[in-house]
Amino acid sequence: MNKTIAVTKGDGIGVEIVDEALKVLDRVAEKFGHKFEYKYALIGGAAYDKYHTPLPEETLEICKSSDAVFLGAVGGDKWDSVEPDLRPEKGLLALRKGLGLYANLRPATIYEALKSASPLKDYIVEKGVDILVVRELIGGIYFGDRKTYVEDGVRTAYDVEKYNENEIKRISKMAFDSAMKRRKKVTLVDKANVLDSSKLWREVVKEMSKDYPEVELDFMYVDNASMQLIKNPSQFDVILTNNIFGDILSDESSQITGSIGMLPSASISEIGIHMYEPIHGSAPDIAGQDIANPLATILSAAMMLRYSFDLEEEAVAIENAVEKVLEEGIRTIDIKEPKGEYVKCSEIGTAVAERI
Ligand code: NAD
Repeated sequence: MNKTIAVTKGDGIGVEIVDEALKVLDRVAEKFGHKFEYKYALIGGAAYDKYHTPLPEETLEICKSSDAVFLGAVGGDKWDSVEPDLRPEKGLLALRKGLGLYANLRPATIYEALKSASPLKDYIVEKGVDILVVRELIGGIYFGDRKTYVEDGVRTAYDVEKYNENEIKRISKMAFDSAMKRRKKVTLVDKANVLDSSKLWREVVKEMSKDYPEVELDFMYVDNASMQLIKNPSQFDVILTNNIFGDILSDESSQITGSIGMLPSASISEIGIHMYEPIHGSAPDIAGQDIANPLATILSAAMMLRYSFDLEEEAVAIENAVEKVLEEGIRTIDIKEPKGEYVKCSEIGTAVAERI
């Protein structure tokens, strides 16, 4: 299979971790007889430094003419004083919008070898955690009408949460399809006891569930869901939710797995060009030292093979290689045992590639 991948390394550790993922992808290509062509493009602070914009037109064009987009991370203290519209993070938001990335998929899994890294008690972790958060990404309150003004002499502000049924159907289909490939359960997280928009989500999701008779559907209010994630995370398979609740719950679910350096993500596009990135940022505090954990980025590459290229066997080969490396006790500094040894970012990347 021949595929073109737009590679936007970004800033900070983005550069280091993406190189390790490409090392692993090259090994997959070699072993399974594929050809991955990388088209490099600048984004974030690196793009600002060269072009005075965090998302140059050329970068968007390269992304739009590729089969998938692979991103490191953007941002850093260096650009803290840049005017708000030109900050590195704005480049990423503009790229998400430009590619119509409406669904964010974040799997949160506790690896057997890393169980001790979870902040949860052993008896909870023992039951296993394997959750996929499916978050709506380009609608709702983050994109709704907003205003700050003075009303009768009092400072006032509002933000509007608004969804139409087509936006809900699109993301719900993603959740049900994903559940069919997993343990066949979808939990819609909302606030339907208060919000009209949540009531509409329930209605639309219930209607859609008729097309998926094998999938068990249940509903949970967001306040309860945030407790249940800590108390009994093994009850969840796919969590379907809106933009703002997904933002919060996906960070919560990622933390229960131990390290932010382990968690990949996929953002699904309405134009078919999906984007893959680790969930963490550019970690300026450890950038340039070759000590970052590249496993989240490597696992994002596995998601790319699965979701964009339909290469399930190759995706599993990467995931198994990561698991093997962990079982052998090869660790970066963020996941090492308290008194254990650790290896460099580039060393663990090589170790994963060698195990494919
Ligand atoms: P961060 O995720 O970059 O770092 C948080 C902490 O986790 C830091 O101590 C860091 O060293 C550690 N960490 C993160 N990734 C790691 C890895 N792979 N291996 C080992 N340790 C890791 O979040 P932050 O410090 O709040 O933000 C730093 C910059 O990143 C900011 O400019 C922020 O805007 C940006 N950011 C970008 C993205 C993105 O590009 N998608 C996401 C979040 C934050």
